Amino acid sequence: MTALVEVRDLVKTFGEGETATRVLRGLDLTLVEGDLAALLGPSGSGKSTLLTILGTLMRPTSGSHTMLGEDMTSASDAALTEFRNRHIGFVFQFHHLLPDFTALENVVFPTAVNKGRETREARERGEDLLRRVGLGNRIHFRATQLSGGQKQRVAIARALMNQPELVLADEPTGNLDRESAGQVMELIREINETEKTTFLISTHDEKIAAACKRQIKVVDGKAVAES
Ligand code: ADP
Ligand code: MG
Repeated sequence: MTALVEVRDLVKTFGEGETATRVLRGLDLTLVEGDLAALLGPSGSGKSTLLTILGTLMRPTSGSHTMLGEDMTSASDAALTEFRNRHIGFVFQFHHLLPDFTALENVVFPTAVNKGRETREARERGEDLLRRVGLGNRIHFRATQLSGGQKQRVAIARALMNQPELVLADEPTGNLDRESAGQVMELIREINETEKTTFLISTHDEKIAAACKRQIKVVDGKAVAES
């Protein structure tokens, strides 16, 4: 299988001198196409730091990072922004939906901003995605009219809008009740299965971790394969 993402000897240090915190300490990780991996580790172990770097939102202190064969560490900020928009989707613990916008507007808006306009194709894809995440009857509901689980499903549809190869999810079910968390994970599995989208999901939830195809743990700033 082709490597989608590869990081080698990844180091991330925050601060300098005596107050410096070395969070990632020579971490190696490979994600292949179609991966569905849980990212585990106690609070403060560096999961969000790793996801932020893999999402090209922050640069590592040292080490190599390639995605789709391209070197992320030497790319300009502008090139990274373009790359990110095309290839990477994000889901966070808090849905970050615009409250007064409808489900559809929330899904389509980021793409519309990037393109400078909202196209009919984008609207159709947005509607299609909302149906896929089980919200076909909520397309024109405002975010404030949706439950927590429904909002997180809108956030997943939004992350998938540009057909990214990689979706990075940082505790996506951390704010949901058990049943909604299960439904969100079920949806992620289905998308992974049908679209071969690669997912890396940080979580503290054993059930969510077990529903992934493999588990990776951050221990002492390094990635340890659990299975
Ligand atoms: P996790 O997501 O596993 O809980 P994080 O990646 O958020 O862990 O944080 C790992 C460590 O890095 C923590 O000690 C945190 O305080 C520190 N850290 C994260 N971001 C910053 C930052 N921007 N500046 C300084 N320290 C940070
Ligand atoms: Mg975190």
